[in-house]
Amino acid sequence: LKDSLIANRDEPARSLDGNRMELLANINNIADVHAANTVGATGVGLFRTEYLFLTHHDVPGEEEQFEYYRQIIVNSPNQAVTIRTLDLGGDKTVAYLGRRSEPNPFMGWRSIRIFLENPKLMITQIRAILRAGRHGKVSMLFPMITTLEELKRINKVVRETRENLRREGVPFADDVKTGVMVEVPAAAICIDAILRETDFISIGSNDLIQYLVASDRDNPKVAHLCEPLSPSIFRVLQMVLDACNRTGTPVTLCGEMAGQPRSALVLFGMGLRRFSMSPAFIPAVKNLLGAVTTAQAERFAHHVLQLSTSDEIRSYLTARLREIS
Ligand code: PEP
Ligand code: MG
Repeated sequence: LKDSLIANRDEPARSLDGNRMELLANINNIADVHAANTVGATGVGLFRTEYLFLTHHDVPGEEEQFEYYRQIIVNSPNQAVTIRTLDLGGDKTVAYLGRRSEPNPFMGWRSIRIFLENPKLMITQIRAILRAGRHGKVSMLFPMITTLEELKRINKVVRETRENLRREGVPFADDVKTGVMVEVPAAAICIDAILRETDFISIGSNDLIQYLVASDRDNPKVAHLCEPLSPSIFRVLQMVLDACNRTGTPVTLCGEMAGQPRSALVLFGMGLRRFSMSPAFIPAVKNLLGAVTTAQAERFAHHVLQLSTSDEIRSYLTARLREIS
């Protein structure tokens, strides 16, 4: 990273008219935590826990997970970390959970679907996260929630796990908030029901986009359809952001588009105030959002929502970017 870009690391992120926002980091491991500190992220908005599980031959034990999460937390900016529960399946599989070949892995047995079927895996990770929560401001995030039933089931497991820890006299944090990743269109469409059962939302736009347009984000033949700057995506995002803001539910967007200038501009205009991205993008997004007023960004977002093709959206936003930078 260029020194000129990280010159802004200690300045708070705010728009030209002084509206504050949080620029958080997506991390996979401890090296990313150091990168998050270097660029001045104010916390970790998404900690993907898969990597620990991918390097083991069996489910890592509770103590090992606890220690791993604790290390990440104490080294993270402001010790603020949103820990995502295991999101395996799709392109990432481990033999110890039963490797199976599926014709459509991304539409198959992945993520929270695997988690809910493996009590040992689920309870071990939830216990480790609740215990590690004593070392910072920790939240727990559930990926790939599709139905309200899944959410109620996982919430019940968290409640029971807390009760067990209390009964055993094991120290844990009582204030760990739980959140839902909105990355399956069904959850976005039923956001009102989801909001009644969750403390916060994190929008996983990478998956939300590929499921919305029925196109594998890793398949080069169709990846062009996974275009964040498109009318359908922005309409769904506006719907979710409005529902969260109406109910006062904290909402973060943690997909790649949070770190891309044109989409970040629209997201800010749509009312998003918490962006989580690869650390490398933070300095540029901070500069960019610091160069617009809220009213300007709202006008851009309003206009974008009237456009009907990606080409129109892209050229409109490219012109706006030139004006402000
Ligand atoms: C997402 O889907 O937007 C997301 C952040 O999760 P991942 O990229 O790990 O699937
Ligand atoms: Mg995802």
